[in-house]
Amino acid sequence: MRFLSAGVALGLLAAPLAAEPQFSPERIKADVGFLADDLLEGRDTGSRGHEIAARYVAAQFAAAGLKPGGSQGWFTPVTLSEASLGDGASLTVSGKAGSQSFAQRVDVLMTASHREAASDVSAPLVFVGWGLDDPAYGYNDYKGLDVRGKIVVMLRGIPKGAPDEVVAHLANQKAVRASARGAIGVIAISSLQSERTDPFAKRLAGQQRPSTTWVKADGQAFDAASNVRGNARVGDKAAQAIFAEARTPLATVLAEADKPGGRPKGFALATSARFTFASTQRRIVSPNVVGVIPGSDPALKDEVVVLMGHLDHIGIKANAAPGADRIFNGALDNAAGSAVMLEAARAFAAEAPPKRTLMFIANTGEERGLLGAEATANMPPVAIDRIVAAVDLDMPLLLYPFTDVIAFGGDHSTIGSAIAKAVGVAGVAVSPDPMPEETIFVRSDHYAFVKRGVPAIMLATGYASGGEAAWKSFLSTHYHNLTDDMALPIDWASAARYARVNYLITRELADAAERPRWYAGDYFGNAFAAGAPRAVRAAK
Ligand SMILES: [Zn+2]
Repeated sequence: MRFLSAGVALGLLAAPLAAEPQFSPERIKADVGFLADDLLEGRDTGSRGHEIAARYVAAQFAAAGLKPGGSQGWFTPVTLSEASLGDGASLTVSGKAGSQSFAQRVDVLMTASHREAASDVSAPLVFVGWGLDDPAYGYNDYKGLDVRGKIVVMLRGIPKGAPDEVVAHLANQKAVRASARGAIGVIAISSLQSERTDPFAKRLAGQQRPSTTWVKADGQAFDAASNVRGNARVGDKAAQAIFAEARTPLATVLAEADKPGGRPKGFALATSARFTFASTQRRIVSPNVVGVIPGSDPALKDEVVVLMGHLDHIGIKANAAPGADRIFNGALDNAAGSAVMLEAARAFAAEAPPKRTLMFIANTGEERGLLGAEATANMPPVAIDRIVAAVDLDMPLLLYPFTDVIAFGGDHSTIGSAIAKAVGVAGVAVSPDPMPEETIFVRSDHYAFVKRGVPAIMLATGYASGGEAAWKSFLSTHYHNLTDDMALPIDWASAARYARVNYLITRELADAAERPRWYAGDYFGNAFAAGAPRAVRAAK
């Protein structure tokens, strides 16, 4: 593990020990209780419940003594584009044996367009394996294939084996890479593994939410895959039709993909496909809430450390039985992270300010695709290179007396060693990601900052001291479910300890002599912060 110089460490330890603030289980419980109340109706982005939650966070920032940091007082309104499919959407697959049509929500799940009212997209099909595309990193699923003007067919998920955060990122970029290669449509078929963990039938039965993206300063809906005009996930019936008379049968492809490290090669299919669908678009405006504590050091106060958590959740369940619970309260996801952020903000506001400026952000639109954070990272309130670090609090499992934390993304820059040092003060360890298959690195707001070159992590409670069982039970039973509410056995003393841990981390990042640096040779540093100074990784 890499430590900063002894002088810095002494300085840091002396100050907080002198008068470290108190962290209150009762205050956190009160905040979570309010934010997760049924009256806030699940805090869906753009809803009245989320607006009320945003006013509450602003009021708490104000009461604590923070300064408004939004574009309009406490708020930075984020404009979003929401696109919904009209009736009658279908995917038609044609081959030598004729044509077969597959209906939306029966055999296929299509995505609405943010640009077109009526879409009609047809082209020959090309299978591209997993659709992973970064030849320099060893993933070259488009090798030898010309997909210009074609519709690509790819497997969902990633190869079995040791998944890492780079592969998680490449999986997140599949449509973007297809677009860059000139494809006009993307069809995702289930791998055997994705059917085990995320069955198509379960998605069909679930609620389909509108597709949402953020709107750029020029008024256009952001689309990183702008050549792709049709996008669908399909079930087995449509997959069979797509692979009719294929030179490698579907079953063979799926079996090969299911082997450890299995990476089936792509090839032109014998079929073509046609997407026909109508879309309606509307704009919604939803706020990020921003509070600031200005830094005290003349040389460092122009640098900003961001501590953030998403305030939005997934709203109200459609088609719930009369009288049954229908509110997705999101007590842990992410009223808890928001409340922990508030408690850390209160602690900073009650003492002498740190050297760098602190920015506390309650993000909107996370559940729709990290949209509030994407808007901040792409249209930042200060030059992006002045944001020296971002720490994201999302879904802390405050259900057991945690003794370790996971810093998703901490291995890529010195932010990881800064965090290890800070939490060590509280007797807490940092553990490596115990669930890489969940690809959490690309699933929360910090990822938007990583893609703009900011060393950023998502902090979560770890697997030790009962954490593993709590995580497995929460992810399988309560995650994005009606039961993520105040009836969960939340350990409020652990919540207060978690607020202290976040306070210590933020203070370390805000007071350290040097800002975090990407490690030399790191994938994300190279991809997104090419000109920034590097650190040399210490041997472990
Ligand atoms: Zn969530």
